[in-house]
Amino acid sequence: MHRRIIAPGALAAASLLLAIPASAASLSPGAPGIGDPYYPDYGNGGYDVSHYDLRLQYQPKTDELQGTATILAKTTQDLSSFDLDFLLNVSEVRVNGAQASFATSGQHELVVTPKTPLAKGAAVTVVVRYSGVPSAKSAYGFTTWHRTPDGAVAADEPEAAWWWFPSNDHPSDKATYDVSVAVPDGTQAISNGTLQSTSSKLGWTRYNWRQNKPQATYLATLALGRFDITTSTSDGGVPVINAYSKDLGDNDGAARASVERTGELVDWLSGYFGPYPFSTAGGYVPNTTTGYALETQTRVYYSPKQFANGSNTSVVVHELAHQWYGDDVSLKDWKDIWINEGFARYAQWLWSEHEGEGTAQELADYVYASHPADDAFWTVKPGDPGPDDQFDIAVYDRGALAIQALRNEIGDDAFFAVLKGWPKEHAYGNASVADFQRYAEQVSGKPLAALFHTWLFQPSKPAAPAAHTASLVKAGTTVTQPKSWKRIEATNDVHGH
Ligand SMILES: [Zn+2]
Repeated sequence: MHRRIIAPGALAAASLLLAIPASAASLSPGAPGIGDPYYPDYGNGGYDVSHYDLRLQYQPKTDELQGTATILAKTTQDLSSFDLDFLLNVSEVRVNGAQASFATSGQHELVVTPKTPLAKGAAVTVVVRYSGVPSAKSAYGFTTWHRTPDGAVAADEPEAAWWWFPSNDHPSDKATYDVSVAVPDGTQAISNGTLQSTSSKLGWTRYNWRQNKPQATYLATLALGRFDITTSTSDGGVPVINAYSKDLGDNDGAARASVERTGELVDWLSGYFGPYPFSTAGGYVPNTTTGYALETQTRVYYSPKQFANGSNTSVVVHELAHQWYGDDVSLKDWKDIWINEGFARYAQWLWSEHEGEGTAQELADYVYASHPADDAFWTVKPGDPGPDDQFDIAVYDRGALAIQALRNEIGDDAFFAVLKGWPKEHAYGNASVADFQRYAEQVSGKPLAALFHTWLFQPSKPAAPAAHTASLVKAGTTVTQPKSWKRIEATNDVHGH
């Protein structure tokens, strides 16, 4: 053995190099957040999921959920460990077949350390076995798992997955899904996409749902309860699957009179947005006490309260518009929420126009005139509203007003080409407000930076543009409320957190 005399500092460095394999020099844990400026710990760093396979069993009496999630992913960096977002009790985690160690951390992190570190670009299969009572779990003091008298519903944004499956919970990591759920006979399980099959054994019925197009985690939904399931096909050939709680009481008729028009409305929206992007459409109405609706992919969630005053096709149009604006093309970060809510609201304005209950311009005029310059409404920037105002009414109404300003600026031909071209341009992907501006400039051939700044980013009431003073009324003018106004405003996917 030869002993060399070297300086202490060099010795430490040499030991370090000997202790760690050369390839592991860049090994590090995946970040506990994917980098969203509004929600720093949402999603995770270091990998990208392509598929979730969820095999679940649910007992409505006790709200007990148990399951096995098999997650197919690819690493985007060398990883010593990585996080999943999850709240239920985990009994076992396997990575590429081998048992992995795991621990909880932060509000909703499951930290997984595989036996063997993972190299960048590797295909990874993660199996998580778990169980728990979702309604007993909370993070940041809230739960988005909503119990009903006969079951439960998972449908919320910006987070809902934590309560029922481990995930990389951020819209920028979209994946396909197989969701298989066993429930006691007489209970139904509703999820996204196509119902592949059902089977019954020993008092339990299993529902096998498949979402074969990329889907953001917050758009994955699960409803468990006693449902009446209806099926039909639109004139345009889109299969429709709807479900209604058997306990909707007085709201039952109005709910069906609205949601059963899904096929007709999907076809109508296709005229503006292009071909429907998914294999099925539809919605479900559970007997929840929550008040909102949500654009859960292919299977929209509607609170029965949306139909408490009679049928409401406006809310159906809003949520179906999201299937293109939000679900097919998803936001890159939560600050891009205008792409979702501005356009879904604008679709309601187009429907109002179609129904003869007020044109989009009349609705824009009404929004502009009904908020004086000192109204806090104008301090919300739809293009970057901040996490506290992400679902503020201004994101919807001022957001749609911005779209009418764009229409006036570039003219109907270019405007409707943009509306229809955008979902094709970013099909099944993610895009930002800046991407939308660039696309509208490309299609229209007009520079639009000033217009986007004024209507989406200026924290004060925009002046009525000189070229459109005739159409955009001045502050203080009384404008007649369009007939569709109240129903449009009653639609919301606004949440308590
Ligand atoms: Zn919406």
